[in-house]
Amino acid sequence: MLAEPLLDWYADAARDLPWRRTRDPYAILVSEVMLQQTQVARVVGRYEAWMRRWPTAGALAAAPVADVLGEWVGLGYNRRALRLREACAVVARDGWPEDLRTLPGIGPYTAAAVGAFAFGRHELPVDTNVRRVLERTGWTPARTPPELGQAVMELGATVCRARDAACGRCPVASGCASNGRVEVVPRAPARTRERFEDSNRWVRGRVVEALARGGPLPEGIDLGRLETAIAGLVADGLVIRDGQGLRLPD
Ligand code: SF4
Repeated sequence: MLAEPLLDWYADAARDLPWRRTRDPYAILVSEVMLQQTQVARVVGRYEAWMRRWPTAGALAAAPVADVLGEWVGLGYNRRALRLREACAVVARDGWPEDLRTLPGIGPYTAAAVGAFAFGRHELPVDTNVRRVLERTGWTPARTPPELGQAVMELGATVCRARDAACGRCPVASGCASNGRVEVVPRAPARTRERFEDSNRWVRGRVVEALARGGPLPEGIDLGRLETAIAGLVADGLVIRDGQGLRLPD
């Protein structure tokens, strides 16, 4: 019922994103893993640089860990980069498995996204945007060809958003159970939101960045915060502490 207007709308409104111009499963996997923690606008340039540096799963699998972690800085949990590299090692050795969830670090959502957008499977990758659209509309699509999945995702990302459902310009408003009835949740005041530079994740990123460059630890960061970040990185196996000091894994 909602598929037709949604697909018509998507044909006009879809953002032109580099990973939508390819069906290469490796490229789509890279984009999906990057998008798990980072906003689309910030991912575009990082994705393009990554693909220039490691254009295939085999190239990434052969890359030194330090280079991979260095390139990942600022994209969220470093462990994701390592799992991505591990998955690519399996693909380079054995090819793409039928069940993509057997690859290291690939959960149901990512498997469905790669399955749909690279292999053309009729699976709906259900991320938070898609789940919200389905809940609000009350829609349970029987078939979800890849383009329809993309359209649902796009609607959730740009129109039916968590805090501001733009029902007035929504292509499926006439068939939506929540049309004009979404309660907008006010955003928390800025002062109660943590600045990224105040987060442990930011400090961890600075440490990995410094080690990847082979340089000294970053300056100007409180020693306690630095130690906490380093201890976490060591515990996660992302940084090695030995007699020589700190280094990234080989
Ligand atoms: S009509 Fe409103 S609540 Fe329904 S899908 Fe569109 S934006 Fe979301």
